[in-house]
Amino acid sequence: MLKIVTFTLGPAMTNAYLIADPETSEAAVIDPAWDGHLIVGEAEKNGWRIGNIWLTHAHFDHIGGAGAVADKSSPPPPVALHPQDYPLWRAQGGAPFFGVRIDPGPEPTIDLHHGQILHLGSNQLQVRYAPGHTPGHVVFYCQSEKVLFCGDVIFQGSIGRTDLPGGDFNTLIDSIREQVLSLPDETRLLSGHGPETTVGRERRYNPFLE
Ligand SMILES: [Zn+2]
Ligand SMILES: [Zn+2]
Repeated sequence: MLKIVTFTLGPAMTNAYLIADPETSEAAVIDPAWDGHLIVGEAEKNGWRIGNIWLTHAHFDHIGGAGAVADKSSPPPPVALHPQDYPLWRAQGGAPFFGVRIDPGPEPTIDLHHGQILHLGSNQLQVRYAPGHTPGHVVFYCQSEKVLFCGDVIFQGSIGRTDLPGGDFNTLIDSIREQVLSLPDETRLLSGHGPETTVGRERRYNPFLE
């Protein structure tokens, strides 16, 4: 089973997800958005050890808490990112463009790729490559829990913006059709911003997918 704690943090109200296998107390952070000390504090409260940081993409509002998570964890957890987003990561996820400063933490050392399986205790998360919002965006699918951590690919009633560097609208729509709408209707969508939704709900009501 997978425990999921959701935080909404930082200037862009970004969702960070602390996930854990309560049997083994192994935990990972998907998109340590901001205020990493809050995420580490929650893990400590539950007796979980953060062993990994998994990034859906490298925008500053999704990585801004990574430095603090790494600083407060020993050993600092390795950071995983798709290589196509490394240039964006090195540019601090566009933070200077938005006039903010972040501590992006340790350089990513784990390359994510489509089809890769990530392990968290007895849970498995499948990496699915879903570019369009950024060139190296991935989503994380846990089939046994029927949940997709989908970053900025799709939101309740909306989709990720494609006007930032490296964005492409048609590529994003293709990613949504192939990597999100191909999943069962009951699959929970935990997005990078806004409330939780499901594949079925977005299939029916998302105005961008008509
Ligand atoms: Zn983004
Ligand atoms: Zn975002």
